[in-house]
Amino acid sequence: MNTNFQRILDEIYEETLPLLGQGKVASYIPALAEVNPAQYGIAIQTLSGEAYQVGDANTPFSIQSISKVFTLTMVFGRVGEALWSRVGREPSGNAFNSLVQLETENGIPRNPFINAGALVCTDHLVSLASDPLLNIRNFVRELSNNPGVNFDESVASSERQTGFRNAALINLMKSFGNIENDVDEVLNIYFHQCALMMNCHDLARAFLFLANQGVNPWDHTRILTPSQAKRVNALMQVCGLYDDSGEFAFTVGLPGKSGVGGGIVAIIPNQLSICVWSPELNSRGTSLIGMKALELFTTKTGVSIF
Ligand code: GLN
Repeated sequence: MNTNFQRILDEIYEETLPLLGQGKVASYIPALAEVNPAQYGIAIQTLSGEAYQVGDANTPFSIQSISKVFTLTMVFGRVGEALWSRVGREPSGNAFNSLVQLETENGIPRNPFINAGALVCTDHLVSLASDPLLNIRNFVRELSNNPGVNFDESVASSERQTGFRNAALINLMKSFGNIENDVDEVLNIYFHQCALMMNCHDLARAFLFLANQGVNPWDHTRILTPSQAKRVNALMQVCGLYDDSGEFAFTVGLPGKSGVGGGIVAIIPNQLSICVWSPELNSRGTSLIGMKALELFTTKTGVSIF
């Protein structure tokens, strides 16, 4: 394995910069359409304590669906295996906001990372926590070791005003009895978790517990059992990039999670976490440069879980 990470990041940055302009920023959430598309950063955090970066790694962005890993972790850590009676663990092969399987599969989403599955996790959290928003924010602050992480209210309200598909998904699940709480309350928490603002370093630090068998390396608290951490990684591997998950496994070969804000985080078990951010997306909602950068990263370093 080539561990000259700084040199590798510099090379990747230079080789992928010409791809700027080939993707499109998410426009279905109006606040995301206003983001400057020509931004691009990468951060690596190793378990041995080294950090590396290139480009706009210190610029906060909307983490969007990357937040689904945090809420899944919070719920799975508390309810354990009982979670799987309300959400599956199979890839969907469909877009993240698709309604098609939900009707025929009786309101049980395929996995916790498509929007329907994430809404079930958020519903669980609303049942468990007296102040779910505060809980999520504090949890992410602890994992990222950054007490400054916060929600962007303008992104949350922009999504609330246009989130008709998410409203359809949650109402359909409510009709099947798979949502316990008030749908507007759950949607409000979901839109806020997606509107968390973090930079590449924050996210690389926040995912390191998944490379560390479930232990937060910053304060040494156990977040998940080793078995649970393994399962979250397995879910990221098979469903973390929705209908791009096969392509991501094929070209990158690491457990990862994407968001329509243009971030992708991936981990190498027992070694490191890496976050790439570039807001221009491909047609499946994955950061176009992010995917290419991670492919180059595993190719140049020679690491892959396969
Ligand atoms: N907030 C977005 C949505 O619900 C998250 C989607 C994503 O990042 N894939 O549509």
